[in-house]
Amino acid sequence: GAPAADLYPKKILEYMEGFLISKTVFTSCELGVFDVLLKAEQPLSAEEISQAVGASLDGTQRLLAACAGLQLLIVHHDKGQVLYSNTEEARVFLTRSSPLSLCQSIQYSSRTIYLCWHYLTDAVREGKNQYEKAFGVSSKDLFQAMYRSDEELVKFMHLMNSIWNICGKNVITAFDLSPFKVICDLGGCSGALAKQCTAVYPECTVTIFDLPKVVRMSQEHFVSVADQRISFHEGDFFKDSLPVADLYILARILHDWTDERCIKLLQRIYEACKPGGAVLLVEALLNEDGSGPLTVQLYSLNMLVQTEGRERTDAQYAALLTTAGFTNIQHCLTGKIYDAVMGYKRHEI
Ligand code: SAM
Repeated sequence: GAPAADLYPKKILEYMEGFLISKTVFTSCELGVFDVLLKAEQPLSAEEISQAVGASLDGTQRLLAACAGLQLLIVHHDKGQVLYSNTEEARVFLTRSSPLSLCQSIQYSSRTIYLCWHYLTDAVREGKNQYEKAFGVSSKDLFQAMYRSDEELVKFMHLMNSIWNICGKNVITAFDLSPFKVICDLGGCSGALAKQCTAVYPECTVTIFDLPKVVRMSQEHFVSVADQRISFHEGDFFKDSLPVADLYILARILHDWTDERCIKLLQRIYEACKPGGAVLLVEALLNEDGSGPLTVQLYSLNMLVQTEGRERTDAQYAALLTTAGFTNIQHCLTGKIYDAVMGYKRHEI
């Protein structure tokens, strides 16, 4: 091979500096650069943007140049002046007022996930999440740690909510759910998937089951009372009785928990489920040999720093479902981040 001095470790340098890109995007959103450009409705100079966001001219110039390099801003040269405008993608996903905005998720990444990842080495060594080091809160009760303030709760709910605008329809149509009229979305959070269900399947009703403060926040900020096919049920799915339903949805629930807790939850669902009913798992599936997708491998590390769980393969989910009593287990890859796994409770013979 080439002598070591001639080698250029392009990939490794990119990995080493990957967080510079994340931070550039976080800061641009936090300062509201894309919002200022949206409101202006015309390209602006660095000076105008720096004044509008209340930041130094020098710092803003460098930030704008980096955003242009990242293809989030378009550079215009006008009579010797440099002006900036949003790319289409930035306008749709990085402005706060857009219905497809990722700003709240980006804020959660910036203020919460990024801080947990600071302790990734400790997480790997200890094999557990890092709330105590990152935020000084006990992680004995996972969701008590995650919901340590109302502000954290709302940010988390926005994070959960936003992805279903992008890939909710795919997971809800991965299997034909039209036979199921009474649906219970366990850990249904902001109701984003419940809304997708009622939009796609006109005959169903959906109950969102979640912890009391999540239900209250969801009713206040996310689900309009006008949507009569969506109702709420406050409770703890590990302790309280579960509503009777034809179909239980568990979207991004099992990845929070150990196998033991998952089996316990699935057994409780199996008992509550009507014969002929089913459970739909919505998760990012790892390849059978664990070889990818990279996003899911990274999510599994994120589950380590943030939760008690992990990402799993479809066979691992099938094993959990089988242990709890479910049969006829099938999975469907959607081609987007989240996939679907179905398991059925046999009809009584
Ligand atoms: N299903 C939603 C989604 O995919 O957008 C939210 C997933 S979030 C990772 C986990 C959800 O489970 C949160 O809404 C949380 O409040 C809820 N949860 C956690 N522990 C719970 C419990 N013991 N009983 C009921 N809900 C719980």
